[in-house]
Amino acid sequence: MEVWFTEDQTKDLRISVRVKEVLFSGQSPFQKVAVYDTVEFGRLLALDNIIQTNIRDEYVYHEMLTHVGLNTHPNPKKVLLIGGGDGGSVREIVKHDNVEKVVHVEIDQMVIDVAKKFFPELSVGFNDPRVEILVDDGVKHVKENKNTYDVIMVDSPDPIGPAVGLYGDDFYRNVHEALREDGLLVAQTESPHFNRDLIARVHATLKNIFPLVRMFWAVVPTYPGGAWTFTLASKKYDPLAVDMDKFPALKTKWYSPEIHRSAFVLPPYFQELVTG
Ligand code: SAM
Repeated sequence: MEVWFTEDQTKDLRISVRVKEVLFSGQSPFQKVAVYDTVEFGRLLALDNIIQTNIRDEYVYHEMLTHVGLNTHPNPKKVLLIGGGDGGSVREIVKHDNVEKVVHVEIDQMVIDVAKKFFPELSVGFNDPRVEILVDDGVKHVKENKNTYDVIMVDSPDPIGPAVGLYGDDFYRNVHEALREDGLLVAQTESPHFNRDLIARVHATLKNIFPLVRMFWAVVPTYPGGAWTFTLASKKYDPLAVDMDKFPALKTKWYSPEIHRSAFVLPPYFQELVTG
C-alpha cells in the first residue's frame, strides 16, 4: 500500500510526497511534530503538517538565511538565532570563525530532540562549544536583551501558533533594540507568490524601524511556489556594498559571493512588494 504525506500549501494547493516510513510522530505543547522518510526528499520534518525541512533541499534555505547576513556584518561576534530547532542554520553559522557566541532560542524541546535523533547532518552544529541553546520564546528573549547582538536571524515557521509573534511590529522593534548599534536582522519572509500581503506589511514595518531594508530570494523546491524570500534589515551595513574579496572561504552548496549579489536582484513582481 502506498503512503503519502500531504501538506495543504494554501487552501487550494497541495504538495504530496511518497513516504517510505513514518519515523516519528508526537505532540509537543506547541505543535504536532513528525518525521517521514520520503522517496524524493529523504528524511523530512513536518510541524503541524507543514514541511519545515528535508535532507535533499535544506541547504538552500539554511545557507541563504545565515551567510548573507554574516558576510554583510564585518565582525559578527555575537549571533542570536530564533527558531530553527532542526539545527541547519546553526550548522551554517558555526562555519564562520569570527562568530564567538551563538545564542539559539528555540521554543520546542521536541524539535531539538527529533533533530538530534533523525537529522544528524543538520544538528551537527549543536555540539560546537560556541553554541548555547535556550528552550524559550524568541519574542520574550528579544524583549529582555537590549544592545546585545551583532546579527539576529529568524528561522521561523509560517505565522501560525507560537510563531505569530515573530512577525509582529513589537517583535521587530524589540529586535532593533536587541541589536548593537551596527547590528542587522535577517528573517525568512515566506512566499512572494502566496504571502504577498504579509511581505508588504513586514517590509513597511521594518522600513519604519531600520534605515536599510532589502529583500533577497532563493528557490526551495518543497516550499509553496518554490521561490522563497528573506529580508535583511540593517542599522548600518549594506549587503550590496560589502567587499566580496573579504568573504571567508565557506564550503557551501548554494551560497557563493555571486549568489550573495544576484539574490538581491528582484523580478518586478517581487519588487513591487517592497517599494509600495
Ligand atoms: N525552515 C523552516 C520554515 O521556513 O518552515 C523553519 C524551520 S524551524 C523547524 C522553525 C522553528 O521555529 C520550529 O522548531 C518552532 O518550534 C520554532 N518556533 C516557533 N515559534 C517560536 C518562537 N516564538 N520562539 C522560538 N522558536 C519558535
